[in-house]
Amino acid sequence: WLSLLCSGLLLLFTLFCFFYIIRTIRQQKKISELKDDFINNITHELKTPLATMTVAIEGLQNFNALKDPDKTQRYLQTSRDQINHLNKLVDKVLNAATYEKQGVKLHKEDINVDTLIQEVIASEEVRSGKKVHFEYLNQGIEIIKADKVHFRNVLANLVDNAIKYATEPVWVTITCRIEKSNAVISIKDDGIGIPEKYLHQIFDKFYRVPTGNLHQVKGTGLGLSYVKTVAEAHGGNVTVKSLDGVGSEFIVSIPLA
Ligand code: ADP
Repeated sequence: WLSLLCSGLLLLFTLFCFFYIIRTIRQQKKISELKDDFINNITHELKTPLATMTVAIEGLQNFNALKDPDKTQRYLQTSRDQINHLNKLVDKVLNAATYEKQGVKLHKEDINVDTLIQEVIASEEVRSGKKVHFEYLNQGIEIIKADKVHFRNVLANLVDNAIKYATEPVWVTITCRIEKSNAVISIKDDGIGIPEKYLHQIFDKFYRVPTGNLHQVKGTGLGLSYVKTVAEAHGGNVTVKSLDGVGSEFIVSIPLA
């Protein structure tokens, strides 16, 4: 019976190795597919502003626009906006590479939540170019201790997504509340929502929901993985509730103290 036991153990070990190898191959395949998608997305994201700038500069050259100050201003402003957009995109990709290697370095300070959220609302509304109705409700948080740059980016990413994945007129509701000595900030939209079967992957780096109409919305799949990294670096977390076709709610929670 000893040899029977040994053969049984050997069989179990062989089976374990077999399934382990299959699982590793599957994971590698998934990572490689995500990277391919990322390269396609980023190529598209980089080419669009470059194409717009080319048109603006050709406009300035071809149509003698320099004689028309209004037209000149418009073309220059367009080029400037596109350069800003490219800068942000490059930062996003470089930051993602840095965080992976070094983690996020936080410089915490006292931040006035109302001021921070009003700033984010103002800049994201202008940036999106869409008609957005914001509702902001603060149920008792005045100050949070957080890294101002990273936490602002977190809120900006979530508000940007709320607007990006919705059709006009967009409704975005931001609420702040205290729950068990945590500051809880919720960003809720009435956009296209996320089918339940994709929800568990949306915080993965490079991941984008593979629903046809979503891919008309530009993106890199880096935003939510950054949001999660920063929330966790603050000792908190981010969760999502979403209904396909109805809307999404992202909830960031960090310790108050
Ligand atoms: P992206 O650059 O693609 O927006 P993110 O990491 O910010 O990358 O988001 C990952 C994916 O999650 C998006 O591609 C999108 O499919 C989905 N998603 C994120 N936020 C929302 C939202 N508010 N409404 C619907 N889908 C969203």
